Amino acid sequence: MILGEDHAIERRVRVPTERERGYEWIVARVGAVVTELLADAPECDAVGIGTPGSVSRRTGTLKNSNTVCLNGRPLAADLEAHLGMPVRLENDANCFALAEALLGAGRGHEMVFGVILGTGVGGGLVVGGRLWGGRQDIAGEWGHHVLDPAGPACYCGARGCVETMLSGPALEADHVAAGGPPCDAAAVAVRAAAGDERAACVLERWLDRFGRGVGNVVNILDPSVIVLGGGLSNIAALYGRGREAVARRVFNDELTTPIVQNTLGDSAGVIGAALLAAASGRARRGT
Ligand SMILES: [Zn+2]
Repeated sequence: MILGEDHAIERRVRVPTERERGYEWIVARVGAVVTELLADAPECDAVGIGTPGSVSRRTGTLKNSNTVCLNGRPLAADLEAHLGMPVRLENDANCFALAEALLGAGRGHEMVFGVILGTGVGGGLVVGGRLWGGRQDIAGEWGHHVLDPAGPACYCGARGCVETMLSGPALEADHVAAGGPPCDAAAVAVRAAAGDERAACVLERWLDRFGRGVGNVVNILDPSVIVLGGGLSNIAALYGRGREAVARRVFNDELTTPIVQNTLGDSAGVIGAALLAAASGRARRGT
């Protein structure tokens, strides 16, 4: 994607990474997309990339990515060598949070906690208009704090993390475990809204988990606003009964924190990546 000076998207190309073909293939795919975009924007001199996981300050390699073939690999350095220009690599949830803080639903708020609810669960923190990575670049990684030590095993090594209990696959698995037919998370919510008691029960349990997880974040950080993104952020009950579940867990006599849906849609992550690239040079590109 090419992001213009006015933050409008000038051009967008979307290709699957085909991660099952491995690391070198992904590097080549990203390189091909950037080369294609560069033909329309030769003045660009840096690239921003949002990806699951984050760069280890210790080794310079990627860690914690659920695209596990990227872990332990120097993705930014390899892309810079491939492209011949600076590459700013950032966690995709951090990119989402930055874009929503500066240009979306979090505008005007001092501390924005951006949440991704999708196949995985991530988060990012923006304070005073700047990404807050933390000492070890793991700030906002609420997806891997534990809700239930006896819960399902996670790729991170823990059990019952938020990601394993609140992601789309978790909601879908819970519906099947309750005896329901296999269907995606959005369909579970639709069934619940239509009066299906089993789906409604599964959804309430999921909303309660949302309340526990987000309530923990509010108790620790007390952000100015919480912006939800990812496919599951379209589930309307999050903003009603989900919010009530958060209020039950907060160590206070009220919950005034706005919990709102994103306004940039699935472009937020790539816009955030481009903003970071632009901040590090004159570039205006993200992918
Ligand atoms: Zn985990």
